[in-house]
Amino acid sequence: MLNDPRSHGLWEKTAPPPPVTGPLATDASADVIVVGGGFTGISAALHLAEAGRSVILLEGAEIGFGGAGRNVGLINAGMWVMPDDLPGELGDVHGERLLDLLGNGPRVVMELIDNHAIACELERNGTLHCAVGESGLREIEDRASQWQKRGAPVELLDAAETAARIGTTAYAGALLDKRAGTLQPLAYVRGLAHAATRAGVTLHTSSRVVSTERIGSRWKVATDRASVTAEWIVVATDAYSTGPWERVRTEQVYLPYFNLATRPLAPDLLSSILPKREGVWDTKEILSSFRMDKAGRLVFGSVGALRNGGAAIHKAWARRSLARLFPQLGKVDFECEWFGQIGMTTNALPRFHRFAPNVVGFSGYNGRGIAPGTVFGRVLARHILGEIAEAELPLPLTEPSDPPMRRLKEAYYEAGAQVAHFVGERF
Ligand SMILES: Cc1cc2nc3c(=O)[nH]c(=O)nc-3n(C[C@H](O)[C@H](O)[C@H](O)COP(=O)(O)OP(=O)(O)OC[C@H]3O[C@@H](n4cnc5c(N)ncnc54)[C@H](O)[C@@H]3O)c2cc1C
Repeated sequence: MLNDPRSHGLWEKTAPPPPVTGPLATDASADVIVVGGGFTGISAALHLAEAGRSVILLEGAEIGFGGAGRNVGLINAGMWVMPDDLPGELGDVHGERLLDLLGNGPRVVMELIDNHAIACELERNGTLHCAVGESGLREIEDRASQWQKRGAPVELLDAAETAARIGTTAYAGALLDKRAGTLQPLAYVRGLAHAATRAGVTLHTSSRVVSTERIGSRWKVATDRASVTAEWIVVATDAYSTGPWERVRTEQVYLPYFNLATRPLAPDLLSSILPKREGVWDTKEILSSFRMDKAGRLVFGSVGALRNGGAAIHKAWARRSLARLFPQLGKVDFECEWFGQIGMTTNALPRFHRFAPNVVGFSGYNGRGIAPGTVFGRVLARHILGEIAEAELPLPLTEPSDPPMRRLKEAYYEAGAQVAHFVGERF
């Protein structure tokens, strides 16, 4: 995308094309302007158009340019925060609402994919959160019992069961979350964009919003070429936010994350490594993740940016880690490599903002945006349609606020991952 093979890597190579779109060239009006062509924005636009609203979506670059087109593709249920801790963080009402909404998030994603026949390599076999050592085991045991108490279909696997599912003996056990799965993220967001177009949404790409102005009871949103007026604005620009809502980006700390994809594996390897194609990540502080794509490429990732010295360090570390995890792989060649910036909030929870009257958005998914972005987009649509009052939203209203020492933390994460991977922290 934008001639940068390290931005969207494998997903760009294998995703079906997006709908044909172009920049906003003439002034227009609609009921709702959606800014941002990722999961949140396109889901909001699709659900609004299905309810009969006229919608113009303005994307600064291309559909899926932000986190949506760069991610690992794990359709997670819930957040990093332990289920029992959520009510403590958000209050009982919002905590339980959020747990319910996000616990059901993967189901909503899968239903959308089915209903709109989106070809995005969906795998419904769950995810495995793998325990590294005793402390990792305690963490997944806690998480499992907290979800089970709420009736969620999660299961603890012992070391032997984990090894049989993954093809490595590296882990002390795993939490199998049957609600979750994997998909090709750029294919999913492009498929949503096709569905939105069919529902009547007008999509404009290369249309970065640079300013907004209140005119009477309406908003005027301008790109550098033309403008749109509407009653509502949905801000769905998240960690890649620029322009009038840059505060959405600056209230998050960037955590760089890279992925490397092998060439398609031989059939004997595919029957020993992730034969059921669950998505995997581990309990380490500098975590690793892996999953298969449809063609049988192993996509392996961790914290770090593939730039400056990082590319060589992280790739060498990944080769060492894969050799330890899966000696059966032999010498590994990477077909694609890419990285992006995950936006982390101070309490690892997302945010709801009302920037001005009728200007609303959700953001800050902390590396878990596929299901949350999709369901929050739908929630925004229902809010604008008058079906959900602000007091009934799954998150309390907050003001964007910059975390202390953001730039320092970002530099530390990028450099720290290089040091950890250079000195040999493995798998
Ligand atoms: C490397 C990586 C790995 C990840 N792995 C996972 C994973 O496995 N599972 C998971 O659930 N989540 C994962 N995530 C997180 C997930 O990708 C994000 O949470 C998700 O993309 C957020 O969706 P969104 O639609 O809100 O924002 P985005 O997808 O970031 O889209 C925002 C869009 O807004 C546009 N924009 C910004 N400013 C403007 C403007 N002024 N005018 C017009 N357009 C603008 C941007 O160009 C961008 O396309 C990962 C993220 C990264 C970076």
